[in-house]
Amino acid sequence: MRQAVMTAPGEIEYREVETPVPDEREVLIRVRNIGVCGSDVHVYHGVHPFTSYPVVQGHEVSGEVESVGGSVQRFSTGEKVTFVPQLVCGKCYPCRHGMHHVCDSLKVMGFQAPGAAQDYFAVPEDLTIKLPDEMSFEHGAMIEPMAVAVHALGRAGDIADRRVLVLGAGPIGNLVAQCARGLGAAAVMITDLSDVRLNRARECGIACTVNALHEDLGTAVGRHFGPDKADVILECVGVEEAIADAITVARKGSDIIVVGVFGSKPAVDLSLVQDRELNLHGSLMYQHHDYTKAIELVNGGAVSLDALITDTFAFDRYHEAYRHIEESADRSLKVMIEL
Ligand SMILES: [Zn+2]
Ligand SMILES: [Zn+2]
Repeated sequence: MRQAVMTAPGEIEYREVETPVPDEREVLIRVRNIGVCGSDVHVYHGVHPFTSYPVVQGHEVSGEVESVGGSVQRFSTGEKVTFVPQLVCGKCYPCRHGMHHVCDSLKVMGFQAPGAAQDYFAVPEDLTIKLPDEMSFEHGAMIEPMAVAVHALGRAGDIADRRVLVLGAGPIGNLVAQCARGLGAAAVMITDLSDVRLNRARECGIACTVNALHEDLGTAVGRHFGPDKADVILECVGVEEAIADAITVARKGSDIIVVGVFGSKPAVDLSLVQDRELNLHGSLMYQHHDYTKAIELVNGGAVSLDALITDTFAFDRYHEAYRHIEESADRSLKVMIEL
């Protein structure tokens, strides 16, 4: 079978390797779609702090079950599936307390462990997730980033009837805004510096968009949410200005969720966090139940994913996908690899 190996930053080599044989507890997946995400792009550029080369990428994946190991109970050939790309130790404090996703020795497939950029990929049964038959493979590969969004919102508790402000309209910000709406938020507003991305958010049904280059964020928040401002604010950018804005426009007691990955240390006004009793939460990846919720939201039509998938490349054109992402800047959102 074919396998795409990133041997060094910017270098993708195709190899012909043996098709994996699933062990007792594994499901062998015929891979169909792989989403390319911001973290993959960091690996491509050699700036991902926790990935070494060579690496097989691919963590946003859909496919169908090709075969199963002898003791696999829950899956059978032909079923549509995705998987949770987290390898955990099961012994550390987080693992012992139901927080496997922040395991002290977490290995994420496609980064610190091999990913699925190949024709067939074997995954432990307990990480395999069934997709509804009617879901397309493209949407199936979006369940992983959807789960990131669902998990982030869950950090603030129940989103129903709350006013949600999302900073950043990239793929994750867009999905966070859509999931907030799907989870019954009273109002959702999304901001970015790119009109292209904000237009895309409107195509996805997020009516209230604000370009923070042209409009004062505090004023926009007051206009859209009224004097009680935002209950929940999600920072989905990972830059100082955005997290500083989140803290500045918060009202007393707002929840702020840090979803963006920060390349450098932001300097923010913690006196406001103290004085306003802000609830500051970090959010990393997801847990299994976030996948379940993500599938429910997609299947129920609560989110619109098609406008987010801007480009699709065949497996043997992986390189072009990355080049396209580089060249198109904010015009490309979710780029898919198809096998
Ligand atoms: Zn991703
Ligand atoms: Zn652990």
